Amino acid sequence: ALRITDECINCDVCEPQCPNQAITMGPEIYEIDPSRCTECVGHFGEPQCQVVCPVECIEIDPDHTEGESVLMARYRALAGLE
Ligand code: SF4
Ligand code: SF4
Repeated sequence: ALRITDECINCDVCEPQCPNQAITMGPEIYEIDPSRCTECVGHFGEPQCQVVCPVECIEIDPDHTEGESVLMARYRALAGLE
């Protein structure tokens, strides 16, 4: 999963781009729910939130590093495919 750092300027651009509704406004800045973030596996070739973020404040979450197979399984579960 990815995470949003405190460099976030709350520009709102990433939230609608997430195919998994993993991004929401938190108490101060936007947050990513790691249980819903597939790093865009299953939907896109690269993480869409990272692509659009104007300040590049979205990075791999070191507490939630998953391989492709785990992310694909998450995608399938979220999509109701299994
Ligand atoms: Fe959503 Fe993809 Fe960003 Fe994860 S990497 S939060 S799935 S847009
Ligand atoms: Fe924050 Fe980047 Fe999302 Fe804008 S695109 S709300 S700066 S994480």
